[in-house]
Amino acid sequence: MGRRKIPPRVPMPMQAPVVRRGNFHEVALGYTREQAMAEASRCLQCKKPTCQAGCPVEVDCKGFIAHLAQGDVEGAFAVIRHTNSLPAVCGRVCPQEKQCERACKLAPTGEPIAIGRLERFVADAYYTSDACASAIAAASQCRMPQGDVRVACVGSGPSSLTAAGLLAALGAQVTVFEGLHEIGGVLVYGIPEFRLPKRIVATEVEHLRRLGVEFRTNWVVGQTIGLRALLEQGFQAVFVGTGAGLPRFPGIPGESLLGVYSANEYLTRVNLMRAYEFPRADTPLPQGQRVTVVGGGNVAMDAARTALRLGAEAVTIVYRRTQAEMPCRREELEHAVEEGVRVRELVAPVAFEGDGNGRLSGLRVEHMVLGEPDDSGRRRPVSAGTTEVLPTDLCIIGIGTGPNPVLLRATPELACNRWGYIVTDPETGETSIPMVFAGGDIVTGAATVVLAMGAGRRAAQEIARRLGLV
Ligand SMILES: Cc1cc2nc3c(=O)[nH]c(=O)nc-3n(C[C@H](O)[C@H](O)[C@H](O)COP(=O)(O)OP(=O)(O)OC[C@H]3O[C@@H](n4cnc5c(N)ncnc54)[C@H](O)[C@@H]3O)c2cc1C
Ligand code: SF4
Repeated sequence: MGRRKIPPRVPMPMQAPVVRRGNFHEVALGYTREQAMAEASRCLQCKKPTCQAGCPVEVDCKGFIAHLAQGDVEGAFAVIRHTNSLPAVCGRVCPQEKQCERACKLAPTGEPIAIGRLERFVADAYYTSDACASAIAAASQCRMPQGDVRVACVGSGPSSLTAAGLLAALGAQVTVFEGLHEIGGVLVYGIPEFRLPKRIVATEVEHLRRLGVEFRTNWVVGQTIGLRALLEQGFQAVFVGTGAGLPRFPGIPGESLLGVYSANEYLTRVNLMRAYEFPRADTPLPQGQRVTVVGGGNVAMDAARTALRLGAEAVTIVYRRTQAEMPCRREELEHAVEEGVRVRELVAPVAFEGDGNGRLSGLRVEHMVLGEPDDSGRRRPVSAGTTEVLPTDLCIIGIGTGPNPVLLRATPELACNRWGYIVTDPETGETSIPMVFAGGDIVTGAATVVLAMGAGRRAAQEIARRLGLV
């Protein structure tokens, strides 16, 4: 029998670049049912699939795709949900091209199965189906609290939400303490609406609420209440998922000029505080016309594309290496360029220049060339000895972040490494304080949603074992 000819990958419907650069609606529109089933039927259903091992939370990709190819969304959702508590989020923001899709047997053809897009379709279709409504109702009726087992989760990013969901499903009474006024961590204050609509996060959170998880917002653990106090108040275990949201600056002259922002503050003002509705929302935001964004990761791409949508005349990303070394997702870079964001490679900021009245007027950059590879394996940028000034009235810095410090400062007995991240047992996630666990960016440094979820899941499994829930 001849080999089956595999049809080409089904493209994702998108808003056209000229349209989307003027709105905050989602860029990728999602597959229709027909498109999803057509893409699912490209899957070889390999005897020894390699895709699952590429997923940090080990979603059974072959299994859910088999259900989907038959039009069985409910069955597909059940398979995904078995290991992934935030599928609608992961389907949108996970770097699948470096994970499951890179591991897919079709990857060498350049057209692996679009596993992320299929995951997104399944989650979206399920959440709008009757099956979802009845499953939620059944879950809240059937939940069997295991005596008085109480667990606290600190922070409400993907690591804590995953831990909370798994523990609540096993019968623990889970309370999530979040310092901000909304639940979701970076999913709501960092990643913009046009990549991850807030309603998606809200749906996943509502799912957890119906499972019995209690959410307390505006609770800064380490300030409103201490970590030790949580244990003393009857929480038998605590999971700390406080993230790495402390902005880093390059440490160059002129950083206090008006018009110099961290990407974290800029995106928080827009996403969480709705500055784009000013004066209806009371958060002001500088309306930069010539915007410069420093950095090459997802954060820099998000900031640049946000500035464009807010009406900037020109947005330029400056990066000290070349586009090939940028750590952002390829797709994000391509989308940014399609929308009109310019990229200046091989330039590094050396000073912010002012207009004499305390306002930013330019960014002096040094020209770079690539030298020998450094510890990261990427070629190190070295100075070419010349500089120029890029005229700019708003500069957004997206060069990395450090650990959120409040809880750590208030809890000196919590062992941290030399970079300030919490030290945990790699198997269990337990910290230096017994029955206090940690995971996500506060342990690894800024990483990805799915790695944070994996850490939350591992710690929750250990907590469940110790508290006799399994
Ligand atoms: C702009 C941006 C874009 C990104 N894009 C992607 C992407 O496309 N794909 C991807 O996989 N990853 C992306 N990431 C990274 C990803 O979002 C993070 O790795 C992930 O959110 C980390 O999850 P977490 O649970 O560790 O913490 P976080 O999501 O950082 O959440 C931590 C939460 O803890 C709260 N908190 C902190 N201290 C306290 C305290 N003392 N008491 C109570 N609450 C506290 C914070 O307010 C926050 O809500 C992006 C990050 C940013 C900033
Ligand atoms: S490796 Fe690719 S083709 Fe094979 S089962 Fe997984 S998704 Fe399908």
